[in-house]
Amino acid sequence: MFSTNKGKVIAPKSCGAKGRTISASIKLKKKTQNVVRFAPIFRTAITVNKSPVPKPKNEIKARKRAKCIDFYYTIVQRLQAWWYNHYMIWEAKPAPFRKFKKRVWEQCAVVSDFIYQIGEYPELRQKSKEVFLKKINEKVVQKKFVYLKKCLLNYRKLTGYGRGITAVQVGIPERYSVIFYNDELLLIVNPHITKISKKKYLYPEMCMSANPIIAPTVRPAWIEFTYYDEKGEKKFWNTKDDTEIGKMMNRVFQHEIDHMEGIINIDRVSSPKDLILQSDPTFYDSAKFEEI
Ligand SMILES: [Zn+2]
Repeated sequence: MFSTNKGKVIAPKSCGAKGRTISASIKLKKKTQNVVRFAPIFRTAITVNKSPVPKPKNEIKARKRAKCIDFYYTIVQRLQAWWYNHYMIWEAKPAPFRKFKKRVWEQCAVVSDFIYQIGEYPELRQKSKEVFLKKINEKVVQKKFVYLKKCLLNYRKLTGYGRGITAVQVGIPERYSVIFYNDELLLIVNPHITKISKKKYLYPEMCMSANPIIAPTVRPAWIEFTYYDEKGEKKFWNTKDDTEIGKMMNRVFQHEIDHMEGIINIDRVSSPKDLILQSDPTFYDSAKFEEI
Protein backbone atom coordinates (compact mmCIF):
# COMPACT_ATOMS: atom_id res chain seq x y z
CA MET A 1 0.00 0.00 0.00
CA PHE A 2 2.87 2.34 0.84
CA SER A 3 6.29 2.72 -0.66
CA THR A 4 9.45 4.34 0.64
CA ASN A 5 12.46 5.79 -1.11
CA LYS A 6 15.55 6.53 0.98
CA GLY A 7 13.50 6.89 4.12
CA LYS A 8 11.02 9.38 2.68
CA VAL A 9 7.39 8.40 2.72
CA ILE A 10 5.51 8.86 -0.54
CA ALA A 11 1.82 8.43 -0.86
CA PRO A 12 1.29 6.64 -4.12
CA LYS A 13 -1.34 7.74 -6.61
CA SER A 14 -3.46 4.76 -5.77
CA CYS A 15 -3.86 6.20 -2.24
CA GLY A 16 -6.12 8.84 -3.54
CA ALA A 17 -4.09 11.81 -2.06
CA LYS A 18 -4.23 13.66 -5.35
CA GLY A 19 -7.16 16.09 -5.50
CA ARG A 20 -7.77 16.20 -1.72
CA THR A 21 -7.50 19.33 0.45
CA ILE A 22 -4.11 20.27 1.97
CA SER A 23 -5.27 19.46 5.48
CA ALA A 24 -6.42 16.08 4.29
CA SER A 25 -3.07 15.41 2.64
CA ILE A 26 -1.23 16.52 5.84
CA LYS A 27 -3.40 14.14 7.84
CA LEU A 28 -2.56 11.40 5.36
CA LYS A 29 1.15 12.32 5.61
CA LYS A 30 0.95 11.97 9.41
CA LYS A 31 -0.77 8.65 9.01
CA THR A 32 1.99 7.40 6.70
CA GLN A 33 4.69 8.69 9.07
CA ASN A 34 3.09 6.71 11.84
CA VAL A 35 3.13 3.65 9.67
CA VAL A 36 6.79 4.22 8.87
CA ARG A 37 7.52 4.70 12.57
CA PHE A 38 6.12 1.24 13.19
CA ALA A 39 7.61 -0.02 10.00
CA PRO A 40 9.31 -3.02 11.63
CA ILE A 41 5.90 -4.30 12.66
CA PHE A 42 4.38 -3.86 9.18
CA ARG A 43 7.50 -4.72 7.25
CA THR A 44 5.68 -7.31 5.24
CA ALA A 45 3.40 -4.61 3.85
CA ILE A 46 6.28 -2.38 2.69
CA THR A 47 7.98 -2.92 -0.69
CA VAL A 48 11.29 -1.28 -1.54
CA ASN A 49 11.65 0.17 -5.05
CA LYS A 50 15.16 -1.01 -5.96
CA SER A 51 15.70 -2.51 -9.40
CA PRO A 52 17.68 -4.46 -10.55
CA VAL A 53 18.79 -6.10 -7.31
CA PRO A 54 22.61 -6.36 -7.23
CA LYS A 55 24.08 -9.65 -5.95
CA PRO A 56 25.68 -9.35 -2.55
CA LYS A 57 29.43 -9.25 -2.57
CA ASN A 58 29.66 -12.20 -0.24
CA GLU A 59 27.74 -14.40 -2.68
CA ILE A 60 30.03 -13.48 -5.59
CA LYS A 61 33.04 -14.23 -3.43
CA ALA A 62 31.61 -17.60 -2.39
CA ARG A 63 30.98 -18.60 -6.01
CA LYS A 64 34.49 -17.63 -7.03
CA ARG A 65 35.85 -19.61 -4.13
CA ALA A 66 33.79 -22.70 -5.10
CA LYS A 67 35.03 -22.46 -8.69
CA CYS A 68 38.61 -22.28 -7.48
CA ILE A 69 38.10 -25.34 -5.24
CA ASP A 70 36.53 -27.35 -8.12
CA PHE A 71 39.41 -26.45 -10.40
CA TYR A 72 41.90 -27.39 -7.70
CA TYR A 73 40.28 -30.81 -7.18
CA THR A 74 40.15 -31.63 -10.89
CA ILE A 75 43.83 -30.79 -11.18
CA VAL A 76 44.63 -32.94 -8.14
CA GLN A 77 42.57 -35.87 -9.45
CA ARG A 78 44.22 -35.74 -12.85
CA LEU A 79 47.64 -35.61 -11.30
CA GLN A 80 46.77 -38.56 -9.06
CA ALA A 81 45.51 -40.60 -12.03
CA TRP A 82 48.60 -39.78 -14.03
CA TRP A 83 50.83 -40.66 -11.08
CA TYR A 84 49.06 -43.98 -10.42
CA ASN A 85 49.10 -44.93 -14.09
CA HIS A 86 52.79 -44.25 -14.52
CA TYR A 87 54.45 -44.96 -11.22
CA MET A 88 52.33 -46.35 -8.43
CA ILE A 89 49.53 -48.82 -8.98
CA TRP A 90 48.46 -51.13 -11.80
CA GLU A 91 44.77 -51.94 -11.58
CA ALA A 92 43.26 -54.95 -13.33
CA LYS A 93 40.50 -54.25 -15.83
CA PRO A 94 37.47 -56.58 -15.93
CA ALA A 95 37.14 -58.93 -18.91
CA PRO A 96 34.89 -57.71 -21.71
CA PHE A 97 32.44 -60.62 -21.57
CA ARG A 98 32.41 -61.01 -17.80
CA LYS A 99 28.61 -60.92 -17.57
CA PHE A 100 28.24 -63.62 -20.18
CA LYS A 101 30.93 -65.74 -18.54
CA LYS A 102 29.23 -65.39 -15.21
CA ARG A 103 25.99 -66.63 -16.78
CA VAL A 104 27.82 -69.53 -18.44
CA TRP A 105 29.38 -70.60 -15.16
CA GLU A 106 26.04 -70.38 -13.40
CA GLN A 107 24.52 -72.60 -16.11
CA CYS A 108 27.39 -75.06 -15.74
CA ALA A 109 26.75 -75.24 -12.03
CA VAL A 110 23.06 -75.94 -12.60
CA VAL A 111 23.37 -78.52 -15.37
CA SER A 112 26.16 -80.36 -13.57
CA ASP A 113 23.45 -81.54 -11.18
CA PHE A 114 22.42 -84.12 -13.76
CA ILE A 115 25.08 -83.97 -16.54
CA TYR A 116 28.25 -85.87 -15.59
CA GLN A 117 31.41 -83.92 -16.31
CA ILE A 118 34.80 -85.15 -17.50
CA GLY A 119 37.16 -85.76 -14.62
CA GLU A 120 34.45 -86.92 -12.25
CA TYR A 121 33.14 -89.99 -14.07
CA PRO A 122 35.68 -92.42 -15.62
CA GLU A 123 32.97 -94.13 -17.71
CA LEU A 124 32.89 -91.04 -19.94
CA ARG A 125 36.26 -92.27 -21.28
CA GLN A 126 35.24 -95.89 -21.63
CA LYS A 127 33.16 -97.91 -24.09
CA SER A 128 29.51 -98.21 -23.06
CA LYS A 129 27.66 -101.51 -22.93
CA GLU A 130 25.23 -102.57 -25.67
CA VAL A 131 21.53 -102.68 -24.81
CA PHE A 132 20.16 -106.23 -24.66
CA LEU A 133 17.43 -105.90 -27.31
CA LYS A 134 15.23 -108.64 -25.88
CA LYS A 135 14.88 -106.55 -22.72
CA ILE A 136 14.31 -103.23 -24.52
CA ASN A 137 10.59 -103.15 -23.63
CA GLU A 138 11.18 -103.81 -19.95
CA LYS A 139 10.10 -101.11 -17.52
CA VAL A 140 13.61 -100.44 -16.23
CA VAL A 141 15.01 -99.83 -19.73
CA GLN A 142 12.03 -97.69 -20.79
CA LYS A 143 12.34 -95.66 -17.59
CA LYS A 144 15.98 -94.89 -18.45
CA PHE A 145 14.92 -93.78 -21.95
CA VAL A 146 12.33 -91.42 -20.46
CA TYR A 147 14.89 -90.06 -17.99
CA LEU A 148 17.39 -89.36 -20.79
CA LYS A 149 14.76 -87.51 -22.80
CA LYS A 150 13.82 -85.46 -19.76
CA CYS A 151 17.48 -84.58 -19.21
CA LEU A 152 17.86 -83.27 -22.77
CA LEU A 153 14.69 -81.20 -22.49
CA ASN A 154 15.78 -79.87 -19.13
CA TYR A 155 19.20 -78.95 -20.50
CA ARG A 156 17.62 -77.12 -23.42
CA LYS A 157 15.29 -75.31 -21.06
CA LEU A 158 18.16 -74.18 -18.84
CA THR A 159 20.63 -73.18 -21.51
CA GLY A 160 18.65 -72.63 -24.70
CA TYR A 161 20.79 -75.08 -26.70
CA GLY A 162 21.80 -78.77 -26.76
CA ARG A 163 20.98 -81.04 -29.68
CA GLY A 164 21.90 -84.47 -28.38
CA ILE A 165 22.68 -86.39 -25.22
CA THR A 166 24.07 -89.88 -24.60
CA ALA A 167 23.19 -92.14 -21.68
CA VAL A 168 26.75 -92.19 -20.33
CA GLN A 169 26.50 -88.41 -19.82
CA VAL A 170 23.79 -88.90 -17.19
CA GLY A 171 25.53 -91.80 -15.46
CA ILE A 172 24.15 -94.72 -17.51
CA PRO A 173 27.03 -96.35 -19.41
CA GLU A 174 24.81 -97.91 -22.09
CA ARG A 175 24.73 -97.41 -25.86
CA TYR A 176 21.85 -95.08 -26.61
CA SER A 177 21.35 -91.38 -27.27
CA VAL A 178 18.52 -88.91 -27.65
CA ILE A 179 18.74 -86.33 -30.43
CA PHE A 180 16.54 -83.28 -30.90
CA TYR A 181 15.58 -83.59 -34.56
CA ASN A 182 12.73 -81.77 -36.37
CA ASP A 183 11.27 -80.63 -33.03
CA GLU A 184 11.04 -84.25 -31.87
CA LEU A 185 13.19 -86.47 -29.71
CA LEU A 186 14.80 -89.28 -31.67
CA LEU A 187 16.18 -92.19 -29.66
CA ILE A 188 18.93 -94.28 -31.22
CA VAL A 189 19.92 -97.55 -29.56
CA ASN A 190 23.04 -99.58 -30.38
CA PRO A 191 24.01 -97.51 -33.46
CA HIS A 192 26.49 -99.06 -35.87
CA ILE A 193 28.26 -96.96 -38.51
CA THR A 194 28.32 -98.60 -41.94
CA LYS A 195 29.67 -95.85 -44.20
CA ILE A 196 31.60 -92.58 -43.81
CA SER A 197 31.95 -89.72 -46.31
CA LYS A 198 35.36 -88.71 -47.60
CA LYS A 199 34.37 -85.08 -47.50
CA LYS A 200 35.13 -83.48 -44.14
CA TYR A 201 34.03 -80.40 -42.32
CA LEU A 202 35.49 -78.35 -39.49
CA TYR A 203 32.96 -76.97 -37.04
CA PRO A 204 33.20 -75.66 -33.45
CA GLU A 205 31.41 -78.10 -31.17
CA MET A 206 30.38 -77.90 -27.57
CA CYS A 207 29.85 -80.88 -25.28
CA MET A 208 27.62 -80.91 -22.20
CA SER A 209 30.23 -82.97 -20.36
CA ALA A 210 33.08 -80.59 -21.18
CA ASN A 211 31.30 -77.34 -20.55
CA PRO A 212 32.14 -74.53 -21.40
CA ILE A 213 34.89 -75.60 -23.79
CA ILE A 214 34.39 -75.28 -27.52
CA ALA A 215 36.39 -77.69 -29.66
CA PRO A 216 36.75 -76.99 -33.39
CA THR A 217 36.40 -80.60 -34.61
CA VAL A 218 36.96 -82.18 -38.01
CA ARG A 219 34.37 -84.83 -38.90
CA PRO A 220 33.08 -86.54 -42.06
CA ALA A 221 30.32 -84.57 -43.80
CA TRP A 222 27.88 -87.46 -43.37
CA ILE A 223 27.64 -91.02 -42.09
CA GLU A 224 25.37 -93.98 -42.65
CA PHE A 225 24.44 -96.10 -39.67
CA THR A 226 21.92 -98.60 -38.43
CA TYR A 227 20.18 -98.29 -35.09
CA TYR A 228 17.18 -99.51 -33.09
CA ASP A 229 14.36 -97.30 -31.96
CA GLU A 230 12.84 -97.40 -28.47
CA LYS A 231 10.54 -100.27 -29.44
CA GLY A 232 13.45 -102.36 -30.73
CA GLU A 233 12.79 -101.92 -34.46
CA LYS A 234 15.84 -101.72 -36.71
CA LYS A 235 16.25 -98.47 -38.67
CA PHE A 236 18.74 -96.90 -41.04
CA TRP A 237 20.10 -93.36 -41.26
CA ASN A 238 21.49 -92.30 -44.63
CA THR A 239 20.40 -88.68 -44.95
CA LYS A 240 23.13 -86.88 -46.89
CA ASP A 241 21.37 -83.57 -46.70
CA ASP A 242 23.87 -80.82 -47.52
CA THR A 243 21.84 -78.06 -45.90
CA GLU A 244 22.95 -76.53 -42.61
CA ILE A 245 20.51 -78.71 -40.65
CA GLY A 246 21.56 -81.83 -42.56
CA LYS A 247 25.24 -81.14 -41.88
CA MET A 248 24.46 -80.43 -38.25
CA MET A 249 22.45 -83.63 -37.71
CA ASN A 250 25.12 -85.82 -39.29
CA ARG A 251 27.60 -84.17 -36.96
CA VAL A 252 25.43 -84.58 -33.86
CA PHE A 253 25.04 -88.33 -34.53
CA GLN A 254 28.81 -88.70 -34.83
CA HIS A 255 29.35 -86.71 -31.64
CA GLU A 256 26.91 -88.91 -29.70
CA ILE A 257 28.24 -92.18 -31.12
CA ASP A 258 31.71 -91.01 -30.06
CA HIS A 259 30.40 -90.77 -26.48
CA MET A 260 29.45 -94.47 -26.63
CA GLU A 261 33.07 -95.20 -27.58
CA GLY A 262 34.41 -93.10 -24.70
CA ILE A 263 35.59 -90.29 -27.00
CA ILE A 264 34.80 -86.62 -26.36
CA ASN A 265 35.08 -83.86 -28.94
CA ILE A 266 38.08 -82.30 -27.16
CA ASP A 267 39.99 -85.56 -27.86
CA ARG A 268 39.56 -84.98 -31.60
CA VAL A 269 41.37 -81.62 -31.50
CA SER A 270 44.98 -81.93 -32.66
CA SER A 271 46.31 -79.31 -30.23
CA PRO A 272 44.93 -77.94 -26.95
CA LYS A 273 45.68 -74.50 -28.37
CA ASP A 274 42.71 -74.92 -30.69
CA LEU A 275 40.29 -75.19 -27.79
CA ILE A 276 38.18 -72.14 -27.08
CA LEU A 277 36.71 -71.20 -23.75
CA GLN A 278 33.16 -70.18 -24.42
CA SER A 279 33.26 -66.43 -23.98
CA ASP A 280 31.50 -64.73 -26.81
CA PRO A 281 27.70 -64.79 -26.89
CA THR A 282 27.74 -64.24 -30.64
CA PHE A 283 30.17 -67.12 -31.22
CA TYR A 284 27.67 -69.54 -32.75
CA ASP A 285 26.03 -66.86 -34.87
CA SER A 286 29.21 -66.60 -36.91
CA ALA A 287 30.14 -70.33 -36.74
CA LYS A 288 30.15 -72.02 -40.13
CA PHE A 289 31.04 -75.42 -41.57
CA GLU A 290 34.43 -75.22 -43.23
CA GLU A 291 35.30 -77.92 -45.73
CA ILE A 292 38.71 -79.52 -45.26
ZN1 LIG B 1 29.04 -84.42 -25.90
